[in-house]
Amino acid sequence: MKPISFPVLSVSSSEFDERVRKNVNDCIFCKIIAGQIPACKIYEDADTLVFMDIWPIVKGHALVIPKRHYADIVSSPAEVLAKLIFVAQKIAAAQKRALKADGINIMQSNGRAAGQVVDHIHLHVIPRFNSDGHHWNWKTQKYADGPEMQELGDSISAELNKAGK
Ligand code: 5GP
Ligand code: ZN
Repeated sequence: MKPISFPVLSVSSSEFDERVRKNVNDCIFCKIIAGQIPACKIYEDADTLVFMDIWPIVKGHALVIPKRHYADIVSSPAEVLAKLIFVAQKIAAAQKRALKADGINIMQSNGRAAGQVVDHIHLHVIPRFNSDGHHWNWKTQKYADGPEMQELGDSISAELNKAGK
């Protein structure tokens, strides 16, 4: 597998090595990285691994993970996230060419409420076909009449505007 060219990540060394050592015992994806359990790997470089999801939503479904253990989007350094989406783009393009996919979903869950099962951040890259039969259960809601939507938006915006965010 030829490494995809990407600026070198500046997240550094011992703190993360320690984190991997700690997590390899109880994180299934760290065990895959360590070679302790098998996976169908489709891409690997110094900081990223991509393998086939064992229970695909649609056949060809792949998972993109950093080799260093971070639980979710909030706790991952921005440059790690950037690398994940960069690699996901390459995987998506390869799925389109190799599988003749008609479309691609990129999915990422954070926390049990959002359906995250494995607490090692990962991007789902899911090939979609015109008649694959999969449907997201995308039930929309409606804001109450009045200021509800604006107030929720304002509270998020105010948080972003706090120093250091
Ligand atoms: P989450 O729900 O956390 O976003 O997604 C976790 C994904 O990991 C699921 O789609 C699940 O099928 C996949 N998965 C869980 N355990 C394993 C495993 O041992 N091997 C592989 N290849 N995929 C796994
Ligand atoms: Zn892990």
